[in-house]
Amino acid sequence: MSAETKMQSSEHKATILDGKATAEAIKAEVAKSVERLKREFNVQPCLAVVRVGEDPASEVYVNSKVATSEALGIKSEHHHLSDDISQNELLTVVRSLNEREDVDGILVQLPLPKHIDEGLIIETINAEKDVDGFHPVNVGRLSLGQPALAPCTPAGIIELLDRNNIEISGANACVIGRSNIVGKPMAQLLLQRNATVTICHSRTKNLADVTNQADILIAAIGRAGFVRAEHIKHGAVVIDVGMNKVTSDEEAKDFFGEEAEKRIAAIKKRGFTLIGDVHQAEADKIAGMRTPVPGGVGLLTVAMLMKNTITAACRRREIKLGVL
Ligand code: NAP
Repeated sequence: MSAETKMQSSEHKATILDGKATAEAIKAEVAKSVERLKREFNVQPCLAVVRVGEDPASEVYVNSKVATSEALGIKSEHHHLSDDISQNELLTVVRSLNEREDVDGILVQLPLPKHIDEGLIIETINAEKDVDGFHPVNVGRLSLGQPALAPCTPAGIIELLDRNNIEISGANACVIGRSNIVGKPMAQLLLQRNATVTICHSRTKNLADVTNQADILIAAIGRAGFVRAEHIKHGAVVIDVGMNKVTSDEEAKDFFGEEAEKRIAAIKKRGFTLIGDVHQAEADKIAGMRTPVPGGVGLLTVAMLMKNTITAACRRREIKLGVL
């Protein structure tokens, strides 16, 4: 069926999967766990965030992580280091955080300056404190189905599906993208939950034929509005991980359908509006449910970082709260 026929035969509008509501629910649970840790075990979980240099996007992400930690009662430390710090100096900072008894979670904000080997820095973080879930030990544990600190974005997507009663077991799930931070761990988590998983990437042939089999379609590509009507099965759940900027009115008219006016006003006001990897207007006509951008997956990532910090704090001390 052509994409046009597909859209013409559909009068419905996809239901929006509200990332904000799920993120707020997770954060409320984290706040309760923090209270219990303090009251019953005299423990205040602590997250140390390391930022190198002046990348503006990293600054926004780190500030949001620190502010959310504090709002939930998690102690946070922001180690902001100059971009000419040597690799050895950065390793020393990470090792000292590893050794500190009071630090439960360590996150080194990526990307790092080019003279620093990111892989080496990640491997140096104590795996028990690796709240980003990027350490090879956590990656290995995840693929073995053992308890691991899982990367926050894909773990948040599983929470979103579960809390919206979307059946994962037995579903055909397709992940577009095979990055170490989203695509691969997403596929592992879906497999663990008994989905039949397909991973697509830039060399996939006849992409739309593959993605059209998916009951759950997850787009983690980094290309504005790439997933179109032709890629989506009728009634599929479409999860949009992408975060891209749209700066032209013409593109906004094409991507956003009914929402175009609002988005054009946003472009006029601040120079851009955000879109994911999914063509919103076309997905609305075919998908059963879809996540919005903004207001979808992005909010879950920070919430899951908080949850991972509590998980790390409990596991390090062999505390079982019974809610996480
Ligand atoms: P990435 O490392 O650049 O990976 C992109 C993936 O997309 C690669 O595997 C690439 O395939 C695949 N790809 C590129 N073009 C393709 C095409 N034409 N057809 C099929 N596959 C294609 O990106 P990432 O770090 O996973 O991030 C993906 C997006 O998610 C970005 O927009 C990023 O900003 C966003 N993101 C959002 C959050 C959040 O919290 N919301 C968190 C992380 C990332 P190859 O491997 O073959 O090159």
